[in-house]
Amino acid sequence: MNTNEDDRSFQRWLKKAARITGLGLSTEERQRNLEEQKHARCEQWKAELLSYSPKVVFMLKHLRLSGCAVPPSNVICAPCDLTRSGGFHPAGAIVLCQGHFGSKKHMEDTLIHELVHMYDHCKFNVDWQNLRHHACSEIRANSLSGDCRYMREVGRGYVSFSKQHQACVRRRAILSVRANPACPDAASAERAVNEVWESCFSDTRPFDEIY
Ligand SMILES: [Zn+2]
Repeated sequence: MNTNEDDRSFQRWLKKAARITGLGLSTEERQRNLEEQKHARCEQWKAELLSYSPKVVFMLKHLRLSGCAVPPSNVICAPCDLTRSGGFHPAGAIVLCQGHFGSKKHMEDTLIHELVHMYDHCKFNVDWQNLRHHACSEIRANSLSGDCRYMREVGRGYVSFSKQHQACVRRRAILSVRANPACPDAASAERAVNEVWESCFSDTRPFDEIY
């Protein structure tokens, strides 16, 4: 027996199975489904982080208090090339690269990283063409975001400014400054990071200093 209703529900089931297994779909359809899934997951994690991550909520509060509120619509989940996990636009928008995150924790680190850039831009009149300015914000963003697992230590109630942490922050900051179109070569990036290191690494605003 095969009524029309049975047939339709079978077709629906078949479509759903195809979506999950990727069977019977063209490469293009499969690719589109994959992007849709990544986008949906990014949006879900974003909503959760904006509401429930203590560190994200803390940063958003301080941005608001500084006159630079970041509405959820200015945090954008989008496909990017796979070399980057996020970005920030001085006009007040953050991009989260939806294909880049293996975990919500990783996305949280990236979001905080970009929010630190946003905070610096708001408070300190950063000139992003100036390598020393850029280097300072990268040192802070990498140190405070958890990109180098700094905040995890804060969560445990102590911070050891370990050599490893510092080496990680330094390495990542140099890479980011190197990618600045205004940066002529690797030596210039390294010099800029070294020149501002002491003052910028110890500047943990808006987080409290931990002794
Ligand atoms: Zn950065």
